[in-house]
Amino acid sequence: MPEVVAYIGLGSNLENPQMQVESAIDELAGLPETALRSRSSLYRSAPMGPQDQPDFVNAVACLETTLPPQALLQGLQAIEQRHGRVRAQHWGPRTLDLDILLYGQYMIDTEQLKIPHPGIAQRNFVLYPLAEIDSRLDIPGMGKVQELLAQRSAAGLTRLEQTPGAAQ
Ligand code: AMP
Repeated sequence: MPEVVAYIGLGSNLENPQMQVESAIDELAGLPETALRSRSSLYRSAPMGPQDQPDFVNAVACLETTLPPQALLQGLQAIEQRHGRVRAQHWGPRTLDLDILLYGQYMIDTEQLKIPHPGIAQRNFVLYPLAEIDSRLDIPGMGKVQELLAQRSAAGLTRLEQTPGAAQ
């Protein structure tokens, strides 16, 4: 595989979410054939779906990888497992959720893998951190991140002032 720039969305709302997200970014950097190129700040967001759950902490990481998309997905799922992710309720609370948002300019639509991630354009907690990393990013089939952002309110979203990587 040639080297590809991939964007990963991270989210957590259980068991010290900031720590879950920070340590998951370190684990992404440690995946085989992969390096961390950059990362966003942490953001706090109101939950989608059921409202009787804590706010989420979200971030986006930008990776350089030669892992094929399926192998990258397996790497993400292994990290989720290590964080004790239990799939219970759809859109319910979780210790860690990792999504492949973008994989270069590839468009993939299989049962297992949809890239670009279909939720990108609707989710301010994805668009804002993506734009923080690269405001000129072009999302295949969806358009420029800045244009998508302009159509999305920042309601419920707060950028956390904490220095990235600082102790919790
Ligand atoms: P979720 O409950 O949101 O973590 O969904 C997990 C499932 O979504 C996995 O079984 C994946 O096969 C599937 N999936 C489809 N597209 C993606 C993507 N772009 N990133 C991560 N998981 C994906």
